[in-house]
Amino acid sequence: MKTIGLIGGMSWESSLLYYQIINQRVKEKLGGYHSAKCLMYSVDFHEIKTLQDQGKWEEATRIMIDSAQRLQAGGSDFIVICTNTMHKMAKEVAESVTIPLVHIADATAAEIVKCGIRKVALLGTAFTMEQDFYKGRLTDKFGLEVLVPGDAARKIIHDIIYQELCLGIVKESSKASYIAIIQDLVQEGAEAVILGCTEIGLLLSAKDCSIPVFDTTRIHAEYAVDFALRDE
Ligand code: GLU
Repeated sequence: MKTIGLIGGMSWESSLLYYQIINQRVKEKLGGYHSAKCLMYSVDFHEIKTLQDQGKWEEATRIMIDSAQRLQAGGSDFIVICTNTMHKMAKEVAESVTIPLVHIADATAAEIVKCGIRKVALLGTAFTMEQDFYKGRLTDKFGLEVLVPGDAARKIIHDIIYQELCLGIVKESSKASYIAIIQDLVQEGAEAVILGCTEIGLLLSAKDCSIPVFDTTRIHAEYAVDFALRDE
């Protein structure tokens, strides 16, 4: 089994899910007392969020690179960034180490393509929904058509992530807002929805939606285990 190197803490609410899903998956695959070999370097999310808000992405990239290098030095065989947003600097992080980086959008898109879905809604932080580092990868590398909510709805989605979910606050009213936004995207032709933020799974699951749901946290964590166990 390879050792998984997790860059966590963004937020720690979702890092907990990664740790749990990864170990559940290893148990499912290997049984008995088996559990995952992994290291987590967990950042202080206050520092990251401050840099995001100030648009200081170069500084944030330096923290991500430092985290990946610590994980490699600690014996990780590959890197998993436990957030969609901070894949903005995935390329720089990947280039800063000699071990592979398992990209969250690749793991997710592979699942979507397997299901024969072409037109998919994307919910995540404003960075993820608006910038090209994520949507562009889904489109250019996997041929998916990506729908994002309109301005007002994007702000609602983004604010709920940072003001509630990243702080561990889960509200019924926020869940209702997300479901209404997803329904609007269904009207626009979305065949499925990507929960493209690693905390959204705290709020919603497949049973709440009328279309298939692709939860990036679960998909990425399980993909990491499959990668760790490959060729064994
Ligand atoms: N975990 C979130 C994501 O998947 C947002 C927190 C962050 O800014 O990294 O995008």
